[in-house]
Amino acid sequence: MGRTSASELQYFSPKVDYAVILSKMKDDFSKKYSRNTPSPTTGLEGYIIKATLGSGSFGKVQLIKEKEGDAYYASKQLSKDQIVKTKQIVHVMSEKRVLNSIRFPFTIHLIASYKDNDSLYLIIPLILGGELFTYHRKSRKFSEKQARFYAAQVFLALEYLHYCSLLYRDLKPENIMIDRNGYLKVTDFGFAKRVETRTMTLCGTPEYLPPEIIQSKPYGTSVDWWAFGVLIYEFVCGHSPFASHNRDVMVMYNKICEGEYKMPSSLSGALRHLIDHLLQVDLSKRFGNLINGNRDIKDHEWFKEIDWIPLLNQTVPAPYLPAISDAEDISNFDKQSEGKQKAKAKTMRHEEAFADF
Ligand code: ATP
Ligand code: MG
Repeated sequence: MGRTSASELQYFSPKVDYAVILSKMKDDFSKKYSRNTPSPTTGLEGYIIKATLGSGSFGKVQLIKEKEGDAYYASKQLSKDQIVKTKQIVHVMSEKRVLNSIRFPFTIHLIASYKDNDSLYLIIPLILGGELFTYHRKSRKFSEKQARFYAAQVFLALEYLHYCSLLYRDLKPENIMIDRNGYLKVTDFGFAKRVETRTMTLCGTPEYLPPEIIQSKPYGTSVDWWAFGVLIYEFVCGHSPFASHNRDVMVMYNKICEGEYKMPSSLSGALRHLIDHLLQVDLSKRFGNLINGNRDIKDHEWFKEIDWIPLLNQTVPAPYLPAISDAEDISNFDKQSEGKQKAKAKTMRHEEAFADF
């Protein structure tokens, strides 16, 4: 297996129209996705597990190192039992297929996959700067300038995914990692789905759900733009726009469906305007969903200072560089309580269901 550095850079020429670049990237994606090209499979026996980075709904995400080389990766483990119990088979198969087909500077991708009796494993680039969530919590709030630097990258990632007819559906700071150069990588494609028109599945994270999902209406890419609005609001305000004081989810859902939140007057007029048009209950008024599509967001006054191509090329200085001493430094991650998960008996489980993994 070839070595893939997490920060391997793609170069985007400022001389080529970005629409042309996007359409080439979409072709690359479609070819891989339609062929459902098998990802390189690998045996975990070729790796040493060094540490636990995070825990997801289905298992741990671990830092691994090649035994025969010195490349490091992250390995996302997904327990077959857990997936079947929670009826997430379709989502997991889609996560792998999507990860194996995408390539974009601000998203992770699949390097290899593996399965054993109990679990499935996705081997992905290792991003050592930790979750944007952890850094945001420490900073409490981002300045508008810093929020813009991050939001612009998330915008580009969503624009790319939507261009490939993919909905992301789980945007939140916990699913965005900071790379060693201070740029972002969207991780966790557990809910990503190829949708040509609209879909209905109820999924996501309560704080980020748009009214149309709560109300079980068919939806499309506009759900990600709503979540994008929640994300920017949270960046600059330090809390979710709809969180209720007593953490009552029903109260929160009510507020979301009513589009009821407070817009701090300390925010710039441009940002207030942008958030107001993203957190629009009325789909015929929500940015990203109007006649100009994404341009209403990309060309918005709040993003005026962004140079999109240098940003893609990661040549704009990042506002924060995570301290990373070496390839095994996990100090940017919240401490994981090790030993919580007992070793499971190696029985064959649900093999038919995962035959195509
Ligand atoms: P959940 O359902 O809780 O969102 P999940 O099972 O879908 O989780 P992920 O969100 O993909 O799992 O990963 C869980 C955590 O593992 C992340 O929040 C992050 O802390 C860590 N992690 C994920 N991907 C990487 C990576 N490429 N490099 C380093 N750490 C990672
Ligand atoms: Mg996650």
